[in-house]
Amino acid sequence: MLPSMVEALLRGEGAVQRRALAKAITLLESTLPDHRAQADELLTALLPHSGKSLRIGISGVPGVGKSTFIETLGLHLIGLGHRVAVLAVDPSSSVSGGSILGDKTRMEKLSVNERAFIRPSPSSGTLGGVAEKTRETMLICEAAGYDIVIVETVGVGQSETAVAGMTDMFVLMQLPNAGDDLQAIKKGVMELADLVVINKADIDEDAATRARAQITSALRIFSQQGRALVWAPKVIQLSALQGDGVQRFWDEVLAFRNSQQAAGELAARRQHQALAWMWERIETGLKQAFREDAQVKALLPGLVKDVEQGRIAASTAARRLLDAQGNTLNNATNN
Ligand code: GDP
Repeated sequence: MLPSMVEALLRGEGAVQRRALAKAITLLESTLPDHRAQADELLTALLPHSGKSLRIGISGVPGVGKSTFIETLGLHLIGLGHRVAVLAVDPSSSVSGGSILGDKTRMEKLSVNERAFIRPSPSSGTLGGVAEKTRETMLICEAAGYDIVIVETVGVGQSETAVAGMTDMFVLMQLPNAGDDLQAIKKGVMELADLVVINKADIDEDAATRARAQITSALRIFSQQGRALVWAPKVIQLSALQGDGVQRFWDEVLAFRNSQQAAGELAARRQHQALAWMWERIETGLKQAFREDAQVKALLPGLVKDVEQGRIAASTAARRLLDAQGNTLNNATNN
């Protein structure tokens, strides 16, 4: 089954490829161990064909205009000959029971375009889990020939960091009144931004211009605090609804990509991301194995109480648990 899926993904056309893509993603999102093994095999087969897209992360609060913008931008890019995949990272979707982000009804024209592929957020619990699936989906879309991948997220928890950690460029969308209350903009998120877009400039041009000036100076202060200087983050204003400024946006994206490529930063960023990702997943895997260890399971409830009630230092309890897990491992290898 896998070879035909790989073939359909790499060389299939239209509906054939689309179906293979949907099936591959379902396989990735499955929690059955057997499916996971097949998904890993699929990823290994597709990996040499991935990586050829430009990966753009877009974040902003609900209502800022992300889906309006992505629809306008996506159609513009398709007009230029690109194929566009839109993925979403929305860790809250597992709580609300459905994903808002990447919802096809939000991007009506783009979702029916055959050069676009839209996938809502996987709804599999933790942010780490959701991000992992999205990262893998991105690789599959790339292998299928989508040369622009847009990953959308809202400002929930650490989701922006996760998306910035899987894309080449991170774009933050703001409203024209954002500059009035810079405190409201999380400093950590602002620091991730390679480009800030002030949307809805059509509503209040003056406010948008003011916000642009304020955010530009805030970014300058952040960058003086030690960011790489190959690219100074920019701020632009546009109207997603009217389509004003979309080409300007794309010019900035290309300028960013060219400057990063020339400096070797793009490849370095991806390498760094892949390794960071590997370690992140190792830590998650180790923690899971630790919690499932029989000795740990036996000792944990008692030690948790001891720590809560101050009978034992937290670090001592941690050492005991780690030693206990080691014992199980040792016993297993001795037997
Ligand atoms: P999202 O939640 O970030 O995806 O935001 P939406 O794209 O759903 O947009 C929220 C609302 O803002 C919708 O009613 C849009 O029509 C409107 N909107 C989006 N972009 C613009 C814009 O550039 N100008 C104006 N006036 N309205 C916009």
